[in-house]
Amino acid sequence: MRPLALIALTLALALAAGADKVVMKDGRTYEGVVLEENDKVVKLKTSRATLTLPRDQVASIEKTAGGTARVEREERMEALSPDKPVAYLELAEWLTGPGKDALEIETLKRLCNAASKLDRSLACRAQKVLAAAHDARGERAEACKAWLRAACADPEDAEAKEKAAAGKKEIDAATIADMKELLTAVDLVIAQKWKDAAIALRKTQSHLWADHVLDYTRMSIKELASDAQRRVVCDVCKGKGDEPCQKCGAKGLITCKTCEGKGRKSGVIGKGGKDPTFAEYVCRSCHGMGSTLCVECGAQRDVKIMSLDSKGQTVTQIHTEAGKERNALLKVVSLDTYKVLKSEAPLLNISPEAVSVGGLKLCATCHGVKYDPPATWPDYEGLKRYKAALEDRISGKTPIGEVLADGSYFDAVVIEQGCMRYSGGKWSE
Ligand SMILES: [Zn+2]
Ligand SMILES: [Zn+2]
Ligand SMILES: [Zn+2]
Repeated sequence: MRPLALIALTLALALAAGADKVVMKDGRTYEGVVLEENDKVVKLKTSRATLTLPRDQVASIEKTAGGTARVEREERMEALSPDKPVAYLELAEWLTGPGKDALEIETLKRLCNAASKLDRSLACRAQKVLAAAHDARGERAEACKAWLRAACADPEDAEAKEKAAAGKKEIDAATIADMKELLTAVDLVIAQKWKDAAIALRKTQSHLWADHVLDYTRMSIKELASDAQRRVVCDVCKGKGDEPCQKCGAKGLITCKTCEGKGRKSGVIGKGGKDPTFAEYVCRSCHGMGSTLCVECGAQRDVKIMSLDSKGQTVTQIHTEAGKERNALLKVVSLDTYKVLKSEAPLLNISPEAVSVGGLKLCATCHGVKYDPPATWPDYEGLKRYKAALEDRISGKTPIGEVLADGSYFDAVVIEQGCMRYSGGKWSE
């Protein structure tokens, strides 16, 4: 299953078990799983996204039975201590048990590797749990590595030995396939076929053995791709590296549909027949700005917030980014009462400045690399040596090398900082 399908499944399970319900003061309701709740925000994972809701706008939270497993999980996580290594492993087994969300892979990696590191006699069992979880997610390379670690922890374990040997073969085969593509890409550089080289290099930059290019020359595959791209004029953007954003017509702004860009509701009469106040006439979709920033091209602008208190008019200027405008405003003003948070001064206006960033999108064809031919050539001698090293391994003349360093029965990278304790949703030392 692809990751997205897995996330959807996880949520479907969580929702089937009973969703938490968050009711906002303005009447909106959201259903999902409450991940976090504090004085400032409530984080809710819905079937579509993770929402961060301002706590002061939440009227109520109804938690349902689906939460029991989550509560038990948190309790068990918080009780972990390095003097009881087996608890890490048992928790990992519980998390992958029937009816559980076995897909918390980052947590599993930590738990299994912590158990392995703390007590080598647990390592084989722990790495097997991890291998099975990776396999369930279709992450074969990671699964193979866990099998290899399991076999290293207990060379007598027949299952681990067999799966590790098969895994090593599989990784070697994948490495050779990757090496062949790297070889093609390097050949294109040597032949100075820049356009094709750029495409081939970009495709191979995360390949197994791609990093080894740095053993032979100073440029990484990614840097070589950019070097090659700079030598070609991109057909799509004519070498500029960016193109106008289609979504907003290169303006960086999306006109508010509710008020058609006017920023205010029409025909509003103020209390007692007076002129309506800003809070009364403001368009609540765009908060008086008439437009929102285009997310597609990541537009940004400054916004001036004008308010009136006993001392007179005050102007506060804030910086806003596409998709984060509401949150930026909420730091300063209430979007419920349209008053300044600290002083309670009523707003006179919220007016945006011109867009400072936006309207342009990185060209998808050249990945935003401008035409700018470098003055020096790539290190052909180094590349030829890298090419020879690839050829020797593809032909079998030189062995590919071990997948893991000798004697690794746990993944040191995962628990690098020694974070073995868990509290308040975070790992720490
Ligand atoms: Zn509007
Ligand atoms: Zn745009
Ligand atoms: Zn381009």
